[in-house]
Amino acid sequence: MINVQENILLAPLTTFDIGGNARYFVEVVSIEEIKEAVAFAKERSLKYFVFSGGSNTLFADHGFDGLVIRIKNNSMTDNGGELMCGAGTSLMTFLMFAAEKEYTGGENLTGIPGSVGGAVRGNAGAFGTEMKDIVKEVHAINVETGETKVFSNEECAFGYRKSFFKKNPSFIIVNILCHFIPGNKKEIESAMHDVIAKRNNLQIQDVKSAGSWFTNPEADERVQEMFEHDTGKKSHDGRVPAGWLLQSCGVFQKRIGDIQAGVQHANYFINMGNGTAEQAMQLSAVAKTRVRDEFGVNLKEEVVLAGF
Ligand SMILES: Cc1cc2nc3c(=O)[nH]c(=O)nc-3n(C[C@H](O)[C@H](O)[C@H](O)COP(=O)(O)OP(=O)(O)OC[C@H]3O[C@@H](n4cnc5c(N)ncnc54)[C@H](O)[C@@H]3O)c2cc1C
Repeated sequence: MINVQENILLAPLTTFDIGGNARYFVEVVSIEEIKEAVAFAKERSLKYFVFSGGSNTLFADHGFDGLVIRIKNNSMTDNGGELMCGAGTSLMTFLMFAAEKEYTGGENLTGIPGSVGGAVRGNAGAFGTEMKDIVKEVHAINVETGETKVFSNEECAFGYRKSFFKKNPSFIIVNILCHFIPGNKKEIESAMHDVIAKRNNLQIQDVKSAGSWFTNPEADERVQEMFEHDTGKKSHDGRVPAGWLLQSCGVFQKRIGDIQAGVQHANYFINMGNGTAEQAMQLSAVAKTRVRDEFGVNLKEEVVLAGF
């Protein structure tokens, strides 16, 4: 039986620490509870929004006038060489579990906040590793039809920050089976430690933000050459980093109210204290306009906007 609450403040449930009240709010663990929550919304003709770790979501200042469903299933099991977890498991907890079991392969993902389900949906990645590299199967439910399905890695249609689930939001991820390679616990832990140190240097660790604000956009050859000439780095798949575009047109460290584009990473919008969604959206609009005017490139938000 689900416990639907009313008028729950969303800000503390996100890493950006921004957002007003959910009119209705519920935490769910099982497929049955997910179904029940969606039925609750449908019976009352309410909009619903599903999230989990809240590290890639910006809720509006006026909150969400519907039902916010938080995925909380955080079971973890070792299936003899492969690890299964609930979609609501924190990615960090899952990687520590893998280290404990002496499985290597996911170390570069250390420090990415949020849930494993959220990470699969966005094919989260860092330092050359993406979720697609460790995911074997994804168990999901289509909340519109009630259909449950097990997706193979190929069926997840992973790409740069995208997946089948991002394109088809009626599918909610419930469980994930990941494969790793047997490794040495000390070496795995030391690699994880090094990744956290790198993230601290880049100032993308333990900051009040929603991660990268924009995805890295595709750009024409002229812009790719400018990037390569300026940084000495190669562009990949016709994309250039959004952070470089922002930095190049003066959005670096730009502040509106209490929201500031990052010092090391202009593509991280940081809540410096009492930032609001309105201020974040204003900074986003300024950034988009400048990048379009200067480079002819259209930026798209990676962060998920809810309640706008
Ligand atoms: C400081 C910081 C650093 C970050 N660094 C990185 C990084 O290095 N690399 C990177 O890729 N990302 C990074 N991020 C972004 C973020 O952590 C990831 O996108 C993360 O995987 C999101 O997971 P979540 O559970 O928090 O998603 P949420 O914010 O809860 O949700 C985001 C979206 O996922 C959907 N979703 C969540 N759970 C499910 C589910 N079970 N089934 C279907 N859809 C679901 C929601 O509907 C929503 O649309 C960073 C964020 C922060 C704040």
